[in-house]
Amino acid sequence: MWGDGIMDRRITKTRSQGGEAMGFLDAIKRLFSGGSGSAPASAGDPYGIWFHFRCKKCGAVVRVRADRRNDLNREDGSGALVLRKDVMDNKCFQLIRAEIWLDDNYNVVTSEVEGGSLITREEYEAAQTAQEAAAR
Ligand SMILES: [Zn+2]
Repeated sequence: MWGDGIMDRRITKTRSQGGEAMGFLDAIKRLFSGGSGSAPASAGDPYGIWFHFRCKKCGAVVRVRADRRNDLNREDGSGALVLRKDVMDNKCFQLIRAEIWLDDNYNVVTSEVEGGSLITREEYEAAQTAQEAAAR
């Protein structure tokens, strides 16, 4: 078992050194090409998680950024982490009180939203598009 493990590590190390060199060159190439803009939105904001809500009263949609380092509390409950947030839309200004439980991979386990509901990003974007179309 030991011998096998050492062999595996040596092989892995040799391979990863080659890989790193390639990756480095690619990174330089990318630097000089100015970036394609295809990077995911979260690339510049590794700690941000976005939650989307719909106001129960007027139907407006709101999105709120939570910071993984500051806004999530590790507690015993329905999930591993909990986010408590007061959210306000910019239409009727009714307060939406959200309590959202997440697992360790930041997936929503359960949510309780007073005065509104938690919606997906797709629903939020669809509602935004609809609102813009109505405003035109
Ligand atoms: Zn509202």
